[in-house]
Amino acid sequence: MSYSAIIVGAGHNGLVAANYLAKAGGRVLVLERRDFVGGACITEELFPNFRVSSCSYICHMLQGKVIDDLELRKHGLAIHPVNPYRFQPFPSGNYMLRWHDEQSNTEELKRLSPNDVEGYGHFQDFMRRAATIMHRYFLESPPTLAQVTEDVRGTPDEAVWERMLTGNMRDLVEEHFESPEVRATFIDAEDAGDTRAPGSIISVAYNDTDMFTDDRNFGIPHGGMGGITQAMARAAESLGAEIRTNAVVDRILVRDGRAVGIELAGGERIEADVVLSNADPKRTFLSLVDENDVAPEVIRSIRRLKTDVSYLKFHAALDELPDFTHYLGNRYDENFLVQVRICPSVEYFQQSADDARAGRPSSSPVMHIQIPSVLDKSLTPEGKHVMSIWVLYAPVRPREGTWDDLREQTGEQLIDVIGEYAPNFRKSVRDWELFTPQELEERVGLTDGNIRHLDITSAQIFSNRPSNLFNGYRTPIENLYLCGAGTHPGGEVTGAPGHNAAHEVLRDWEEI
Ligand SMILES: Cc1cc2nc3c(=O)[nH]c(=O)nc-3n(C[C@H](O)[C@H](O)[C@H](O)COP(=O)(O)OP(=O)(O)OC[C@H]3O[C@@H](n4cnc5c(N)ncnc54)[C@H](O)[C@@H]3O)c2cc1C
Repeated sequence: MSYSAIIVGAGHNGLVAANYLAKAGGRVLVLERRDFVGGACITEELFPNFRVSSCSYICHMLQGKVIDDLELRKHGLAIHPVNPYRFQPFPSGNYMLRWHDEQSNTEELKRLSPNDVEGYGHFQDFMRRAATIMHRYFLESPPTLAQVTEDVRGTPDEAVWERMLTGNMRDLVEEHFESPEVRATFIDAEDAGDTRAPGSIISVAYNDTDMFTDDRNFGIPHGGMGGITQAMARAAESLGAEIRTNAVVDRILVRDGRAVGIELAGGERIEADVVLSNADPKRTFLSLVDENDVAPEVIRSIRRLKTDVSYLKFHAALDELPDFTHYLGNRYDENFLVQVRICPSVEYFQQSADDARAGRPSSSPVMHIQIPSVLDKSLTPEGKHVMSIWVLYAPVRPREGTWDDLREQTGEQLIDVIGEYAPNFRKSVRDWELFTPQELEERVGLTDGNIRHLDITSAQIFSNRPSNLFNGYRTPIENLYLCGAGTHPGGEVTGAPGHNAAHEVLRDWEEI
């Protein structure tokens, strides 16, 4: 049997693409190597009766258009809003809450550091403009950097864009805020992996596009992030798409320069008019495609792609919530603990980046803690909780020893650090598990455990993602498209690469 489209991988972007192609009348087959769909957008029972979003854990950038087009709510998606979306305690006993609205944030700053209220206004204005420049092209074919420069020329965004290309987050934060704790609240570098890296503003602005997400689409999906991809799979199947799990694609078949189908690990061959790969660009071109089917300069450009910046993911089953009452006093509300950030200073953040670059687990782990069971009681037995932590940064491979040698002590260190803020924490932990880049690669199939398939840096955005040798989602192999996070606009659970890739395929079908 032949299909109009085969999609390699049932990550959320593969499922989004499947929906659009099936809706347009295509015969679509999705092949997923694991025994469940979702890629890095999944829920797993890592501890008996405790379910957890084992990779991504916050739905903050899933595009409203994708939610609506796929009718995900009709297919079961429900999102628990999170507001405040972050509580950040400091060793001094102070804390900062981050809310979705600027007025509430201004009130927080008045309490923490009144002198920083004005700087906050300017900082927010800058970041909104920066995020707008990134977001404007999200659901379009990627522009070149030159086109973006043309688009902002003569507008107030021109200076912002120049600073995004050449400036860095550390200068930006230090210029706008004077309190060390407020600076610690706003410092970030994301995939730039260094607060002083030129272009780090771009890496942060990419994630800050979540400021344009509707409040009702920003939060914790009921049942974990797998709730998103389960809804996407149901939507695709309702449109006639077929989804096969435990289906490892061994190679993409190319005849006379055109993709014609795939071969599964067991040897089964399936033909299709087009093949879309949801696997990352390195995996697609360095292991699924025969090197002889691609020009050497394409292979060289793929090898050069950066997957250098890595993170850890820690999970724990808890008997009780960590005790942060001494920070919040009368204001205590357990809803404030849904997301907690540990980052006491700019220097602490930078140290985590420096350690990772030196090839060692961080001595100052920056932690984004989430306790979704505060909002979603379906995840755990009654009265118990589940916690996940996204930890910045980690070397892809440690310089000395292996992750197998370092996993235990690295996880124990994270528990110790949280204990400095919440004294009951260690005794509340029933069990824990740490995913290093090695586990992320083995479990999810992410090259180097890269959570966004490729680092999101100034060199790997827009038409340079993954390579300017590609024409958007079309690869140099005719009828082979990429549709995953390694394409424009990038990683996170956005649905945008899947949306855009499917539309390029549909445009090509119209031309035939
Ligand atoms: C630890 C971690 C934390 C994160 N936190 C967040 C967060 O909180 N919020 C957020 O929005 N984003 C987060 N992200 C990023 C986000 O999850 C990813 O960028 C996004 O899910 C990638 O989606 P995708 O569909 O493009 O690719 P993937 O999810 O990687 O899916 C690719 C799929 O292809 C399959 N595949 C690969 N090779 C083959 C093959 N040969 N045959 C068959 N199938 C194959 C894989 O098994 C996988 O299912 C996080 C990611 C990780 C790993």
